[in-house]
Amino acid sequence: MPHPSSRISGITPSGKDGWEVHFDAMSRKQAGEDIIMLSVGDHDFDTPSETVEAAVKYVRSGHHHYTQLPGLPRLREAMSKLSARCTGVATSAAEILATPGGQAALFAAVQATLDPGQHAIVVAPYYATYPGTFRAAGAGFTVVEAHAEDGFQPDPAAIEKAVQANTRAMLINSPNNPTGAVYSRKSREAIADICRRHDLWLLSDEVYWTIAHGEHISPRSLPGMAERTLVINSMSKSHGMTGWRIGWLTGPEPIVSLLISLNLVSTYGLPDFVSRAAIEALENDWGVEEIARIYDTRRLAFLDAIRGINGVTVRGSEGGMYVMLDIRAVEPDDEAFAWRLLDAEKVAVMPGSSFGDAAAGCIRISLCQPEDVLRESARRLRRYIAGHG
Ligand code: PLP
Repeated sequence: MPHPSSRISGITPSGKDGWEVHFDAMSRKQAGEDIIMLSVGDHDFDTPSETVEAAVKYVRSGHHHYTQLPGLPRLREAMSKLSARCTGVATSAAEILATPGGQAALFAAVQATLDPGQHAIVVAPYYATYPGTFRAAGAGFTVVEAHAEDGFQPDPAAIEKAVQANTRAMLINSPNNPTGAVYSRKSREAIADICRRHDLWLLSDEVYWTIAHGEHISPRSLPGMAERTLVINSMSKSHGMTGWRIGWLTGPEPIVSLLISLNLVSTYGLPDFVSRAAIEALENDWGVEEIARIYDTRRLAFLDAIRGINGVTVRGSEGGMYVMLDIRAVEPDDEAFAWRLLDAEKVAVMPGSSFGDAAAGCIRISLCQPEDVLRESARRLRRYIAGHG
């Protein structure tokens, strides 16, 4: 075979992607072992039935054709309304690019703001695809760690130090995957200040915004930020639609107009019937409140069930679909901990180091299991740690 491009081989250069525990656990579960999967961020329930029925209706009624490149007009309109609620900033349909999921919106945001050889800052712990998304654009990046001891709030002084002459963008994510941290107003203001002073784009991944304790404050709403912020949104988490692949980017109209050409050469627009079902889901908020309530209840139940486990400290864990446990007092090597927990108690969790060094020594618990299963996994975790010393 001829050589693949270095760009494509460079997206995950080590070949190791941090998902080894998860995939091993999945194979063992498929082979019949009683494994509790707390490693994946996908709902354990189906898409709301109203959305499913709407899609069936549109499939049956001939909505099988190409759609407009930036999204159907009514879809962009509905997305702009939700963006206005998410970010607190009036948003027009022209400021919306519909994409197949939040990941494609992230890809578009990075392509839109960074030339090959330019530099970005990414606040860690981060969602596992971030480094590869920069590499696919040929851009360099510096990882700036937020620390467990600070509840994984970003460290503005460290971010400031990482700015270089060719830095063009910063990527943040709140509510955060993997830590569940919700960035405080103070953190956001400090980040906005750095972006304004150094004339940076801010790429703000807000895919978990509906699943947050307390107020969601989008940096787009801060002074001078709407013109330099690209917000990543998705229906995957908020509307229970992970497999439908539908999300969007919100940003200044000129950059959205340019990005329409990226859709031209990549996705060529979204599926017709998916778009139409999504319009109804957006206009009616199908699933949003219930899904937020489910994760809130689960988080509180799990945190209650692990209370008092020796050597385990909860960090972040204020929103999104995850709880982050600092297990350094039990075992400094989070990957070894995750493998042993899987072997001994058949609970699959993600080692924190899969999400960058900032979360090393922690494990990420996904709340994508019913409450009784989460309580059972907490019992197994307690038993494992009791037997560990
Ligand atoms: N951003 C974050 C922080 C995520 O956790 C995910 C998915 O887990 C995504 C983006 C991408 O989501 P999707 O492409 O399903 O919208």
